[in-house]
Amino acid sequence: MEQRRATGMAPVLAGWVLALLLAPFPLDAEPDYAGQRAILVDDVIATQARYGDRPFDPTVLDALGRTERHLFVPEEVRAAAYANRPLPIGHGQTISQPVIVALMTELLRVVPGDRVLEVGTGSGYQAAILAEIGVEVFTLEIVEPLAIEAKARLAALGYDGVTVQHGDGYYGWPDRAPFDAVIVTAAASHIPPPLVDQLRPGGRMVIPVGSRFFTQYLMLVEKREDGTPLVRQLLPVRFVPLTGGH
Ligand code: SAH
Repeated sequence: MEQRRATGMAPVLAGWVLALLLAPFPLDAEPDYAGQRAILVDDVIATQARYGDRPFDPTVLDALGRTERHLFVPEEVRAAAYANRPLPIGHGQTISQPVIVALMTELLRVVPGDRVLEVGTGSGYQAAILAEIGVEVFTLEIVEPLAIEAKARLAALGYDGVTVQHGDGYYGWPDRAPFDAVIVTAAASHIPPPLVDQLRPGGRMVIPVGSRFFTQYLMLVEKREDGTPLVRQLLPVRFVPLTGGH
């Protein structure tokens, strides 16, 4: 009898112990996003050590460690904001995988004060990473609601160095050209000639090229001093398609 009563009390006691342990962490407290970001940066470093040819530039890693990715994704996927993977942002579009964002940023070899054209604003996350490095970003988004949302988000977060516009990025932004670098975050069937034109000699462009159903490759385009492009195929990737009338 005594024995049975003792067993019956066990769950109650366990419940109290649990309650005491959890007391300092109310359920509605914000998750430790800074801690999650630090883990993400470690994951990006480890991924690069496994597949890359050299470690990422500390400036790129610092930008990744500072940029609040959870504020760039919809509420429904916020819990996965710091997982090293792409996430849906609505309108059939995605925010790129952090390691790919780091790689593309690194490939641009930008320095503070540079002017960069981005095609495919999406959530605005890639633009924010570039702004954290100190470059001025001009970014075009073809889906109007995404452009409006990203513009408001970047302004609210104080990213004054980013200018967002709704439009078809295939044609670039002639009024703001030339650019020190161009980054395209949607897969094109070919390298858009207007974007090469708007790159300054010596400038670099990263762009995924390929179709929706076949392998896409990340390409690095360097515009030589004589204006001709030098194109290198880097690695297979998977991006949403570049749309528009071209
Ligand atoms: N850089 C984004 C990733 C966006 S995914 C981020 O950090 O979140 C690619 C984006 O390119 C999508 O939002 C898509 O709508 C946009 N896009 C596709 N074709 C485009 C075009 N022709 N011009 C401008 N944006 C385009």
